[in-house]
Amino acid sequence: MSYQAEETRSKFLRLMFHEYYRKHRDTIDQPDKIHTREFGIESWDYTWRCPERTEIDDSGIKIKQGCGSQGISFARIVKCPKCGSKGLQVNNWKRHVGFRTQKALIDELVMSAAHSVYHSAAFYKIPVARTMDEKEWQGAELVFDIDADHLSSPCSKEHDAWKCNTAGCTESGMGAPPIEGCPKCGETNFSSRKWLCEKCLDDAKQSTLRVYDKFIVEDFGLDPELIQLNYSGHRGYHIRVKDPRVFKLDSRGRVEIVHYITGTGFRIVPTKDDSLQNRHRVIIIARDMPLPTKELDQFNVPGWGNRVADAMVEFIRSIELYSGDERWAKPLRTHREEALKGLLRTPPVLSANVKGVGEKSWQEIAVRAVEAFGGEIDAPVTHDIHRIIRLIGSLNGKTGFSVTSLTRDTISEFNPLRDSIAITGETLKVVFPEKGLMVPKIRIGDEIYGPYHDETVELPMAAAVFMLCKGVAKIA
Ligand SMILES: [Zn+2]
Ligand SMILES: [Zn+2]
Ligand SMILES: [Zn+2]
Repeated sequence: MSYQAEETRSKFLRLMFHEYYRKHRDTIDQPDKIHTREFGIESWDYTWRCPERTEIDDSGIKIKQGCGSQGISFARIVKCPKCGSKGLQVNNWKRHVGFRTQKALIDELVMSAAHSVYHSAAFYKIPVARTMDEKEWQGAELVFDIDADHLSSPCSKEHDAWKCNTAGCTESGMGAPPIEGCPKCGETNFSSRKWLCEKCLDDAKQSTLRVYDKFIVEDFGLDPELIQLNYSGHRGYHIRVKDPRVFKLDSRGRVEIVHYITGTGFRIVPTKDDSLQNRHRVIIIARDMPLPTKELDQFNVPGWGNRVADAMVEFIRSIELYSGDERWAKPLRTHREEALKGLLRTPPVLSANVKGVGEKSWQEIAVRAVEAFGGEIDAPVTHDIHRIIRLIGSLNGKTGFSVTSLTRDTISEFNPLRDSIAITGETLKVVFPEKGLMVPKIRIGDEIYGPYHDETVELPMAAAVFMLCKGVAKIA
């Protein structure tokens, strides 16, 4: 997109966001103890500075670079508009921002109409201090981020795309960029575009429900009244635990919770029941889960033991979808019903009639099943006790959708591509450029839009804003 087109786009979106915040002051969430939170604000415009500096060229001659000027730009510029120097410092982020009241936060949102707004999960004594040490950490909510990015849903191959950026190479493809490099030129210089659809959003929702129901509520016994749920406005969901018992958990304690939920580090020790020896082996019990330590003891987590059989049933039921090529994969497909019959007994047993699957194989299958059953969460988000997370009720500048507050009851019927639409109004003509990647179809509201490529289309405002935010179209 040209500089001009990007500037027009960003200014338009900022105006739309401004109008939205002006009319929706009361739907913006108030984080508890707001005066203790650090806010991070991503804006539509960039501040740039062209530092004066001395560089030494190849022949050892000192050259003065930069002109010391600074300014604001609505496009991500790389060259100084005054002197043409390339060493620009560009920034569109403000961290260490604090608000004493909810009103101050909302006033700022209406005024700046930011691209995105985040706040710390942590409470600080001095949230506006520049370093974490000076902030004085007082505790933090426990946060889970469940994002389609981490689920590798099969639909990503239908709607994510990449393009090789090497000069002269025109290779492109669907899905994630090839890790081994461009099949044509071998370089790894790609631009890529991630898309979203109802399928991957639903996968993210199902994964969120599993983490919420099975782990946070059932295993950790946390009170649903103290759990906040929301859609991120893009490809995922967040869960925030506001139980004071979790606030003081350090990073290590949080890592253990992640390991537990994802089934990481799970090993099994076979146990035998002699009364069944000739026909069946008894289900193996989880013993080596790295859990619980002192910090997690307070939650009385029951462990994976009782759940291993459930996980195995679920894994074997969908064994057709399993892509691994372990020696037991084929026999397990062939004798699927036999394997399930044993696991569905009370107590569950590992059938000895599944030919080609011995004790060692069963152990491996149990580990795979536990991994597959575990919640798919973005681990670093939960580990990081200083992490900032999107403000509920704010707009997500990657889509124009709102970061939508949900409850355990409302999430089931919630359709992000319909229910988090924030900006509506007239239609808008947008241009899908000839040079860009093909824009896949997407449902927004009750209509399906696209695919688009190299064309001008008049779209309802919500769809137009979405395309502009995604950066795949410009204003005609
Ligand atoms: Zn300059
Ligand atoms: Zn290439
Ligand atoms: Zn998808």
